[in-house]
Amino acid sequence: MPIQETKLIWRNGEMIPWADATTHILTHGLHYGTAVFEGMRAYETAHKGVCVFRNREHIERFLYSARVYRMDMNYSLEDLMQACLDIVRKNELSAAYIRPVAFLGYGEMGPASRAAKTEVAIAAFPWGAYLGEDGMKNGVDVAVSSWRRMAPGTIPAGVKAAGNYLSSRLVSMEAKEKGFAEGIGLSHDGTVSEGAGENLFVIHKGRIITPPTASSILAGITRDTAITLAKKLGIEVVEQAIPREMLYAADEIFMTGTAAEVTPVRSVDKLPINRPDFPITRQIQNAFFGLFTGETEDEWGWLDPVA
Ligand code: PMP
Repeated sequence: MPIQETKLIWRNGEMIPWADATTHILTHGLHYGTAVFEGMRAYETAHKGVCVFRNREHIERFLYSARVYRMDMNYSLEDLMQACLDIVRKNELSAAYIRPVAFLGYGEMGPASRAAKTEVAIAAFPWGAYLGEDGMKNGVDVAVSSWRRMAPGTIPAGVKAAGNYLSSRLVSMEAKEKGFAEGIGLSHDGTVSEGAGENLFVIHKGRIITPPTASSILAGITRDTAITLAKKLGIEVVEQAIPREMLYAADEIFMTGTAAEVTPVRSVDKLPINRPDFPITRQIQNAFFGLFTGETEDEWGWLDPVA
């Protein structure tokens, strides 16, 4: 799906026209992958107008990612949170996907360069259900990838850096070429890690099980949302390493992510899950979308109104 253009992009503190948000081909981030980013969503809520969802946690992770790669960010948490609200409002968007990105710019070559300046930009544009409306309703078919996720001590999976998405690209392309909606990566030790752009949850005998952060996952903000909502619903959640074969014994499986929201999985490697009516997944999904209709009380302050 082509990107739906909007009017303005926030770049280094200014709002500039969409078409002017270009960069030099010798940009450091383009050559060495020195770029970190976020994926966030704004929702049109029934009770609080247009709101950015978990603005603070996303920008906190953005700053953390930059810190790991020693990229100096010249903007504070508050500046960047405000810029995310502004970019949605100034583009007159209701529901939007928001993409903050920071990268080392033009100035000096060499992977360890400290002279290349950090550039920061935030774009916002409409983006529907990542794994499709049908997938959201009826579940998606996924496959375990032949590609492993980055092992601990190689490239940090817990940091949202552009280069990590080379792994996601391989995992996801392989799955799509074979006719699946998404691919699941295993970690270096063969246990389940996550989807190419989603965290994964397995439901087994009434409990929700999800891989821990040490299983080469990105600790998703939607993952945290799902865990919090599940606990609120009185459902037990455990974080533990998941052997691949557990996927084939699952009562239910679902995936979470800002783009994918809460998407049920209906089969893995062509083996259907045991409960195709997704009873627990539906509860989590309803609680999640209920945040935007007001049916789920936002007792955590996750909705940040743009107006
Ligand atoms: N894992 C990966 C690899 C991702 O790209 C994403 C999407 N950002 C997630 C998990 C889910 O993270 P979040 O819920 O914060 O969007």
